[in-house]
Amino acid sequence: MINYLYQEQNWQSQLSNLITDPQELLNVLDLSQDQLLSGAILASEQFKLRVPRAFVNKMQSGNALDPLLLQVLPHHLELEEHTGFVTDPLGEEAANQLPGVLHKYKSRFLLTLTGACAIHCRYCFRRHFPYQENLPKNEDWLNIKQYLEHQPDVNEVILSGGDPLTLSNRKLALWIERLESLEQIKILRIHSRVPIVIPERLDEDLISLLKNSRLRIILVVHSNHAQELDAHTCSKLFRLVSENITVLNQAVLLKGVNDSAQALIDLSYRLFDARVMPYYLHVLDKVKGAHHFDLEADQIDKIYTEVLASLPGYLVPKLVREIAGEKNKTPLYGNPTL
Ligand SMILES: *Cc1c(COP(=O)(O)O)cnc(C)c1O
Ligand code: SF4
Repeated sequence: MINYLYQEQNWQSQLSNLITDPQELLNVLDLSQDQLLSGAILASEQFKLRVPRAFVNKMQSGNALDPLLLQVLPHHLELEEHTGFVTDPLGEEAANQLPGVLHKYKSRFLLTLTGACAIHCRYCFRRHFPYQENLPKNEDWLNIKQYLEHQPDVNEVILSGGDPLTLSNRKLALWIERLESLEQIKILRIHSRVPIVIPERLDEDLISLLKNSRLRIILVVHSNHAQELDAHTCSKLFRLVSENITVLNQAVLLKGVNDSAQALIDLSYRLFDARVMPYYLHVLDKVKGAHHFDLEADQIDKIYTEVLASLPGYLVPKLVREIAGEKNKTPLYGNPTL
């Protein structure tokens, strides 16, 4: 392990001091530059490498197949074209009603306040999504408010991304206050990978902001492997749970990263150490550039069957696929061909 002094730094400086150069990443991990075929450099130009040093610190030095490294290192295979792998697999562009808004599910309304992420995950289904043209500005709030008032079934707003926890507490507070002013909204959900990759983001200001809201707050973090959840990260997550904030995890099933029952079992138990409950296990969205993370349906079925047989029911994440146009995530167990 490499010993950075990153834990001394606040989250803002960590966020402004990411590794974005593939060669630097390999150097830091004592890995040979031979890993980087020219295609990988091209891939990193299409979707930039971005990884916090605190996350790199959880990687194993000298291991080119480290499950955390594989999630972020640009790969020449990303340039391959594969049938069925497209730029907008979830049809989000079609579902876009107002800037920053995705309303596909009856009671839940998804709000994107930033296109920025602290980390770029190579398998991300949003890697081609045109965020920057599509963010709500302050003056859009009135339109969003009006829209919500005409959708009385909506009782939950999900801040998603991009990653909403790359925003300042001040900006978050402003949006939370706006949402609190709508009586119909009871639940605020925050989807974020930042607590896993920069645990310092869960600072006291954020905690007090969340625990003092009249909304029920749910934080859904995104961790794919137990190695991402070291003692420090777990203690930060546990701190939130101890303030009565519900914390759930979603993971993506990824070839080479967590494609074994044992990896998923370890992940669930580690999450539970921090009192974080496993929520979803997503199969890969068929996004262009991510084909090399894809698994065959029968492999998925075999892995998941073993997970089901090994874990208590409350630690089994729901295996789901998102299908464009569906009114909910589609459960996959027993239906591996979906
Ligand atoms: C996944 C998703 C949600 C939340 O779905 P849950 O099943 O409640 O977690 C809401 N809106 C959109 C557009 C989504 O993709
Ligand atoms: S949206 Fe989530 S999965 Fe996609 S790059 Fe950002 S942190 Fe990673």
